Amino acid sequence: MTTTPTITFYGGIGTIGGTKIAIEEDGYRVIFDFGPTYSPSEDLIGGKIHARSGAAGLRDLITLGFTPALDGIYRPGAAESMGLAPARGEKTQVFISHLHLDHMGLLHLLGDDVPVWMHHDALRLFRAVAATGEEPAVPVGTRGFAWGQVIEVGPIKVTPVAVDHDIPGASALLIETSAGTVVYTGDLRKHGPNPELIDQFVDAARAAGPRILLIEGTRLGEAEFYPDRKPTLPEQAVAGRFVELLQGCEGLALTTLYPRNPLRVVNLAKAVPDVGRVMALAPEMAYVYAEMGGDLADVLIYLRSRDRDALAAGMAPGWLNGLIGRGAKTVDCEAIQADQSRYLLQLFYWDLPELVDIRPKAGSLFIHSNGEPLGRFDPAYELLMRWLELFKIPFTSVPSTGHASEEDLLSIIKGIAPEILMPIHSKTPERMDVAGQARVMPEMGGVYEIATGKKIG
Ligand SMILES: [Zn+2]
Ligand SMILES: [Zn+2]
Repeated sequence: MTTTPTITFYGGIGTIGGTKIAIEEDGYRVIFDFGPTYSPSEDLIGGKIHARSGAAGLRDLITLGFTPALDGIYRPGAAESMGLAPARGEKTQVFISHLHLDHMGLLHLLGDDVPVWMHHDALRLFRAVAATGEEPAVPVGTRGFAWGQVIEVGPIKVTPVAVDHDIPGASALLIETSAGTVVYTGDLRKHGPNPELIDQFVDAARAAGPRILLIEGTRLGEAEFYPDRKPTLPEQAVAGRFVELLQGCEGLALTTLYPRNPLRVVNLAKAVPDVGRVMALAPEMAYVYAEMGGDLADVLIYLRSRDRDALAAGMAPGWLNGLIGRGAKTVDCEAIQADQSRYLLQLFYWDLPELVDIRPKAGSLFIHSNGEPLGRFDPAYELLMRWLELFKIPFTSVPSTGHASEEDLLSIIKGIAPEILMPIHSKTPERMDVAGQARVMPEMGGVYEIATGKKIG
């Protein structure tokens, strides 16, 4: 018996992130992206409440709606405790478009024999963030792909294509079934350093004659929901804007960045010497930067009090010893305190108590640039503000998002010209409206026939 190829939506509907979609044909299944929806002001897990470890963690995350109750993917033991069949070989394979948490933060739940695919650069980044403890270990079944490589999962063929997003290795997927091709954009932008990748992706997607286009819509309705949000800069303009701000800064310059965007660190490290400063990075940030090809000669590593204690006691983790062993130069709170106008210091917000020893002087400045806490919707944002108020440090932001504008999204849809448009990864998917373009609004849990786009379950 042959069954019609289907597409099923387990996440990413009416939310930003959390995309979990399955394409199935003849007992084979491709699942793409596997992260939780990110909503720190609403989630039941956050702050000091974590999902439990082991099998209990899977029960927590399924019961609270972070991950779907699916047979054949989760760790043996944990799966059965929810009445599910455990992972069973290679008939199900998981593809990760990029390494943002809302696309991969549930991978640790998968059984060891489930193949997990991502671009080689995304895998390199994954190993780096896992080494510093920012992520659980890289799953045993993880494999790197190259763009253009065709990966066969039974009768389903998956071809990853490069896109521009604010993270290395970002990929779209062309997924071919016997009933037609589904194109999944992952997350993407046209204002990054490689807009030509978007043009090439649009051409490749159109040439595949796609039946269905699944496209992210993060910024649809942005002006209405976030009227006070600063306009996004092109990625390549961020460092120049920092330099302008630093020209008028007489004290310490502090910033918060996202470790998974090493390109921004590279650009800043190369730009700030123009205004007589050097970039100092928290050790975890420096490690990821170096692992992704950043030059340690361009930065300093800021050793927090706990790093100094660990190094002095011979208890520092291997990755930190290795980093220092590579000849990285370090700086500490006394050196920064003594000569504040020489540094652009990147601190994670949980390291703000370092300011007690650094004692930022009048004329210091804090520049938020897409680091954590990401925005006002995160309760930690108020905490950051209270620390800055205590030290009388003015706050400003230099944002560059990884997501395309509404206008760019619509031009991408017109360029690809799918038979059926299915908007995802958006709070307002109904705004994704192109005249003359057939559209189906996927429902959470809905099963659709790929041949027709009709809901059949
Ligand atoms: Zn996303
Ligand atoms: Zn993303």
